[in-house]
Amino acid sequence: MRSAYKTKEAARHATAALARMRELEIPPTPVNFSVWFEYFAGTRAELVRDLDGLVESGACSDEKCYDVFVRYFSQNDSNVAEAAADIERSIGNVLQHMAAAGKNASGYREALSSLTEQLTENDSLPDVRRAVEEMVTETNSMAARTQELEGRLSDSSQEISTLRLQLESARREALTDGLTGIANRKYFDLTLSKHVQAATPEEPLSLLLLDIDHFKQFNDRYGHQLGDQVLRLVAQTLGQSLKGRDLPARYGGEEFGILLPETALMDATTVADQIRQIISKKQIVRRNNGETLSRITVSIGVAQYRDGEDVSSLVERADQALYRAKNSGRNRVVAEDQAILSVVK
Ligand code: GH3
Ligand code: MG
Ligand code: MG
Repeated sequence: MRSAYKTKEAARHATAALARMRELEIPPTPVNFSVWFEYFAGTRAELVRDLDGLVESGACSDEKCYDVFVRYFSQNDSNVAEAAADIERSIGNVLQHMAAAGKNASGYREALSSLTEQLTENDSLPDVRRAVEEMVTETNSMAARTQELEGRLSDSSQEISTLRLQLESARREALTDGLTGIANRKYFDLTLSKHVQAATPEEPLSLLLLDIDHFKQFNDRYGHQLGDQVLRLVAQTLGQSLKGRDLPARYGGEEFGILLPETALMDATTVADQIRQIISKKQIVRRNNGETLSRITVSIGVAQYRDGEDVSSLVERADQALYRAKNSGRNRVVAEDQAILSVVK
């Protein structure tokens, strides 16, 4: 996806947005920056009208800017992602611009001061010297102005770097599951779509769907908090058992999705069975009294991407395989279109 803005344009909007936020005493968070950047870009007349209205009525605050952001940017996730990517790119452009401007300005100042020195040392040409003295004074004051501009550019540049870090951490947070710390469903779906779009017949791609067995019973027996501990344990086990480009994610309540790039069905089934076995051997201990709780098991469905299909049919086949694993007794791995590959030992 390309940025909709050209570098200079974006730099202008970004600078204007930062200045306006400072003027209105609105914190320059990524959300507020997005809103005000869009305001100066002027591509949405309604957003401009809304913000003008807020400013006129003196009601333009951090909270109101957030409302505007929700109204115009979060109608769907891809809008937000696009806006974030656009802003990110614009910020990068502005930073490059500023660094270049800063370099030019200091180079110019150095050239001027060396010229001044040369001229001051040369007293054999008094007329020339007098004539040039004026020029030196003038250029010195220009150098001072340039230095001031450099200072301002560097302030803005720092402000934008901070903004970039905040944006980065907001994005990371938005893609992470709060309970387990691994990728959330949104991140998983995005990554799965990307892999499916880039898939070639030579590079297999497999998907595992894992669901904890009789988890409701576990919660009913030991309580939700211990249930949460189990979810964290499963996530941790996935993190330890997988490597490279494999992506484990919390797919739903007690369901996990695992994306295995460059992996065909048979290998994916082997990985799934290793995971199943590791989890079934974990001992769960109640922290406060050391009591050993009943073990947990998982069922896993496995499917491999087929050339040309869309994401939903791949997920559907993994889900059907999982359903069969559940129906045939749980604590097992079932691959699409195959007999049950592993049974309780
Ligand atoms: P099955 O073997 O068929 O999967 O049975 P199950 O009990 O695991 O499945 P069911 O769909 O009936 O129940 C899922 C349970 O998962 C319901 C809920 O108690 C539990 N659960 C879902 N999300 C969370 C969570 O975030 N924390 C905890 N502690 N439990 C959760
Ligand atoms: Mg479930
Ligand atoms: Mg379950």
